[in-house]
Amino acid sequence: MIAQVVHAHRILTPHEELHDRVIVIQDDRITAIGHRDEIQVPADARDIVARDTIVVPGFVDIHIHGAGGHDVMEATPKALSTVSDRVARHGTTSMLATTVSAPPEETCRSLAGIAAYIASPENRPSRHRSTAEILGIHLEGPFISSARRGVHPESALEAPSIPLLQKFLTAASGTARILTLAPELPGALELIDSAVNDGLVVAIGHTDATYEQTQVAIGRGAKHAVHVFNAMRPFTHRDTGVIGAVLTHADVTAEIIADGVHVDSPAVEILMASKGCDRVILVSDGIAATGMPDGDYHLGAIEVRVSKGVARNAEGRLAGSTLTLDRAVSNMVQLNVSLIDAIRMATLNPARRLGLAGKKGVIAVGADADLVFLNQDLTVAGVMTRGVGPE
Ligand SMILES: [Zn+2]
Repeated sequence: MIAQVVHAHRILTPHEELHDRVIVIQDDRITAIGHRDEIQVPADARDIVARDTIVVPGFVDIHIHGAGGHDVMEATPKALSTVSDRVARHGTTSMLATTVSAPPEETCRSLAGIAAYIASPENRPSRHRSTAEILGIHLEGPFISSARRGVHPESALEAPSIPLLQKFLTAASGTARILTLAPELPGALELIDSAVNDGLVVAIGHTDATYEQTQVAIGRGAKHAVHVFNAMRPFTHRDTGVIGAVLTHADVTAEIIADGVHVDSPAVEILMASKGCDRVILVSDGIAATGMPDGDYHLGAIEVRVSKGVARNAEGRLAGSTLTLDRAVSNMVQLNVSLIDAIRMATLNPARRLGLAGKKGVIAVGADADLVFLNQDLTVAGVMTRGVGPE
């Protein structure tokens, strides 16, 4: 057993804020947290001193397409390890590889490749390699609205189909976690029933649904909404639509892309005011260009040009982002959200959404040793992924 002890001045668990505690780590787990004098520290433990940094759980990104020049749809070990290694530098220690709408055979090939990677040793950090763990797959499409498809190719969209979903789930070998769909499409409600029955989180997104259509879908078990405000029927006071339903149903969790580009600040504030800090989840929607210079990239098979960090397709539509969750947290703090609440939205809330409370997104006994050491300016000073790191 390799024992490590983090001597932390300030910890956001983020259930609470703790001061001057030690975190004991054995291999890849947290085994104790407490005051120095009340904890049995193994004699040969490696000491990690976090005097000037803030220790928070590793970020959990449930909506990310790529980073470091690669897209998860490539689904090769090289592509997936590049994405995972790159985002780990920004504090993301676990993630859902997120697909975009593509022809079914292509999607199945990607799902199979990602599933194989998830099962492989490469999906685990090793002695000198900090890497984000791919926890599963988020299927963004293809059962989405043509009117609100964003950059998803029209030709790749599909009518809701239980047999096609089953095909995807088979290809994904039990690793699919979230299915994003448009609930107003014919057959969507039956698809929601089927997906919920298979244990998926059903997410509302890329949708032109009315308030009533969304309400019915929520009642059938669609309890999550992807990148709220983006690729949704707009809100107006007599046609509040999908946004009206998402904002007023307390049991629905809401993703937000807090990059300062996708959504204006007042919209983020409206979301916070109506959902509260326990129901908002920070996501990156990051693409291959994340952590890379401006230039030409792909999102799935879609050509994307990145200029000043903003990704658009040929028609000028936003095509994902180059956001990382460290910046998303920092951006929320700029909007006067408390740091502990901003951290919660990048850690505890997404972990809960995936049913991983207690294992991911929290600093607690029994949780995976995924830690981020933040400087006072909220940049990342160091990262530990399942006991590996910081360097
Ligand atoms: Zn999207």
